Amino acid sequence: MKKSAIIFLLFSGSCAAPRLSVTNNTSSSCDPIADGKLFTTVWQQRSAEYRALCYQAFNIAKLRIDERSGEISPKPKAIMTDIDETILNNSSYQAHQALLGKDYDDVSWQTWTNMANADTMPGALHFLQYASSKGIEIFYVTNRNEADREGTLKNLKKFNFPNSDNDHLLLKQNISSKEERKKSIEENHSIVLLMGDNMNDLSSFFVKKDAGERIKLADGFASDFGNRFIVLPNPVYGDWETALYHYNYSLTPAQKDSVLEASLYSY
Ligand SMILES: [Mg+2]
Repeated sequence: MKKSAIIFLLFSGSCAAPRLSVTNNTSSSCDPIADGKLFTTVWQQRSAEYRALCYQAFNIAKLRIDERSGEISPKPKAIMTDIDETILNNSSYQAHQALLGKDYDDVSWQTWTNMANADTMPGALHFLQYASSKGIEIFYVTNRNEADREGTLKNLKKFNFPNSDNDHLLLKQNISSKEERKKSIEENHSIVLLMGDNMNDLSSFFVKKDAGERIKLADGFASDFGNRFIVLPNPVYGDWETALYHYNYSLTPAQKDSVLEASLYSY
């Protein structure tokens, strides 16, 4: 389906009509999960504002690197960055799934990562190449799995991301928390910046916390954002969403819809 057709369906004033057209779903009401993924993916792909927020994040990151480049450090400096929706843009995968009326699943995701076809996030490559030119090592700490290693490296190398090698790619092994991988980097490096689209990329305090606690923690870290933490926007997926489901990954789309509707503040 052409992108222009998707946008028309989204803004045609009825949730039932586009869902019928796209997925043959006979539901007569809005579907927060399926329609929401479609809507937010369109925003990621087509809005100038999304690109501007990414550029803003990496512009601030560059300022921080410049500030810290003169600081004496007992160890070599490093940046710890997430990959998905931080430096690589997977919106084509999300669009593909949304148009099928589907959410993420492991099998389709691995098919996508093996394609090594994700684009770069606006400003990400330029920033990391700049940081590398200042002698800062880049560590890619991602919750992609070991099975994704070859495709991930191929995708990073395709764009000449600095340090795109096995030593700098720390995939998920047994646990999704990045704390142990962060400690392993800190054995020989001083981390000057952490970058991610998920609070778990920045601090283990957020891991498996409920939505209310995550909000309070974000408030507590307020002065760190744009300082040692660089955050990228991701309205499509993340622990902000799974926290609302209390990390129950077996909910049906209908159950997720109910949770999302019950999570809203209205008047
Ligand atoms: Mg990510």
